[in-house]
Amino acid sequence: MMIQKSFANETEGAIILVPTPIGNLEDITYRALNTLKTATVIAAEDTRNTKKLLNYFEITTPLTSYHEHTRNEKIEKLINKAESGAQIAVVSDAGMPAISDPGTDIVKAALERDIKVIVLPGANAALSALVGSGLSTDEFYFYGFLPRKKKEKVEVLDRLKSIPASLLFYESPFRVKDTVNVLHETLGDRKITLARELTKRFEEYIRGTIEEVLTWVETNELKGEFVIVVEGANEDDAQAAADWWIDLEMKEHVEHYMDQEGLSSKEAIKQTAVDRGVPKREVYQNYHIRN
Ligand code: SAM
Repeated sequence: MMIQKSFANETEGAIILVPTPIGNLEDITYRALNTLKTATVIAAEDTRNTKKLLNYFEITTPLTSYHEHTRNEKIEKLINKAESGAQIAVVSDAGMPAISDPGTDIVKAALERDIKVIVLPGANAALSALVGSGLSTDEFYFYGFLPRKKKEKVEVLDRLKSIPASLLFYESPFRVKDTVNVLHETLGDRKITLARELTKRFEEYIRGTIEEVLTWVETNELKGEFVIVVEGANEDDAQAAADWWIDLEMKEHVEHYMDQEGLSSKEAIKQTAVDRGVPKREVYQNYHIRN
């Protein structure tokens, strides 16, 4: 167990995650600006990008890069610095670091070494899109970027389709059309919102059913950055997903678990019995007698 008292000792080193604007530079907070100004060093996902932001706000704090391929080495150096009292501000290209961006590793490494981690609240595309989508905010599930290959996309969506929570995805403009098509194939015609170019001049919310939005993506030029928000499963969806085996014979049900999910026959029988709410013995007999 570890208890962090973030502001008990201001002279202690820290890793400070600082969100930056996702488009509109006015979305930077006073606290973020002060932190960037007073930090010992700013560790950036891409120093060229962050340099532009710093120039705009006339901040001259030293910058260091935080590239994927040098990440471990870099983390080690940054953590050592924090250990000797440095305030390390961590920024990504836009929005909240560590959300579909680098940052998670440095948080873990800092906590392993008992260095405090401070997170500043600020811009984040997913949450802004969710709130503006008009879909339920009671429960939501942030997935981030779906895999690029269709088969893997379908596998992920099959897994998410029974979740009774709004689903949030990040997507590149080059793949939005394909993704909306796959959403239609796997989830059916639910409500959906595409939130495009949030906080920027061409900000748009495209709200409708998946079928309506499919027509929109087929007929419009898809430019800029997108968040996709999809309505969560309703009771019928959840029930249909839970009863995926309903048309299978008991033996086929067991075989599905063995062939598709790599379970042993024993585990597959157990899971089949749970799904069907029948005793294991019944499934066992059915499976072995028929085999
Ligand atoms: N860490 C960021 C955050 O907190 O939102 C997300 C970084 S992720 C690498 C970039 C993705 O976020 C984009 O591909 C897009 O899906 C989404 N995104 C970022 N800025 C956006 C904006 N202004 N409007 C809509 N989506 C945006």
